[in-house]
Amino acid sequence: MKKKIIAYNRVETPVLNELQEKYDVKFFKNIDPKTDTDFLAHLSESEGIIGLELEVDEELLEKAPHLKVVSNVSVGYNNLDIDALTKRNIMATNTPDVLTDTVADTIFGILLSAARRIPELDHFVKSRKWTEALEPEHFGVDVHHKTLGIIGMGRIGQAIAQRANHGFNMDILYHSRSRKKDAEEKYNATYCSLDNLLSKADFIVLITPLTKETEGMIGRREFEKMKENAIFINGSRGKTIVEKDLIEALRNGEIAAAGLDVFEQEPVNHDNPLLDMKNVVTLPHIGSSTFETELAMSKLAAKNLEAGLKGEMPPTLINKEVWKEK
Ligand code: NAP
Repeated sequence: MKKKIIAYNRVETPVLNELQEKYDVKFFKNIDPKTDTDFLAHLSESEGIIGLELEVDEELLEKAPHLKVVSNVSVGYNNLDIDALTKRNIMATNTPDVLTDTVADTIFGILLSAARRIPELDHFVKSRKWTEALEPEHFGVDVHHKTLGIIGMGRIGQAIAQRANHGFNMDILYHSRSRKKDAEEKYNATYCSLDNLLSKADFIVLITPLTKETEGMIGRREFEKMKENAIFINGSRGKTIVEKDLIEALRNGEIAAAGLDVFEQEPVNHDNPLLDMKNVVTLPHIGSSTFETELAMSKLAAKNLEAGLKGEMPPTLINKEVWKEK
């Protein structure tokens, strides 16, 4: 009998088709995993889960007695209760590296868009308001030769530093838990305290994982430290900032603009005041979503899933302590 698998939210079709040849895979989307009876019935017999943004917590695990591996189609795994999975010897995996350059491109796109006001001016042209010579009120600010502060100098942070320093001659300040000597040399980057970075950078990019330590790490106090002409970009997760404090900072002119790929609530609430601000560039959490990279992520996630099911070590296992060589 084929092993039962749950696919959730997003697995690219060619990868899903291949999995369906080998396993009894049921794909779920737009359901409530806490109450959907079909989902819960399949979960009770499933050995694997592959997909995006399924909240895997104690409550779900209690209903999944046969589960061996949970394979996230993302690098971030704040949706997984790693302690609860480890306690049950269930492997958790993610998809690092394959998305790094794509996310860095997206974040740099947001940064350029906010600085040069590209979405706003696109709307200006298409709404037929370009009827006479432009005024300074339409001007943006330079990106090249400015100072970029990167909070979270990991894989994606370093790919952003590469673009900024090699492509745009920017000075790089960075903050993370540990120093990155290699990145300092390659991208002429300077390690500094969070407060120092906040008060000196023209552009600030937040790209840490969402953890207990980073939840709400950028709030009122941090926005107050930023320069009045600073542009703040969040590419990590919505909850790493205090969104109401960002709204306040923008309303009070404490910072100049923001660019957001992620929100506290997703899909974003249509009443969110950020959506009415011209100086805020928004994207629908699409950092890694190009055709090429989504496929690469699904392929890596499937490799992780299959390895875990076969009792082999998945290539990008998160909770390595559950691995016991057979
Ligand atoms: P990574 O290589 O693990 O890098 C994370 C960096 O954050 C590391 O430099 C780490 O510091 C730093 N960090 C962690 N906790 C911190 C703290 N409390 N204070 C300061 N720095 C801290 O991960 P990655 O592959 O670059 O991905 C980073 C995150 O980006 C993901 O977890 C995800 O949330 C987000 N992401 C978003 C999208 C999107 O679509 N918008 C797509 C992909 C990823 P150390 O190196 O010193 O430990």
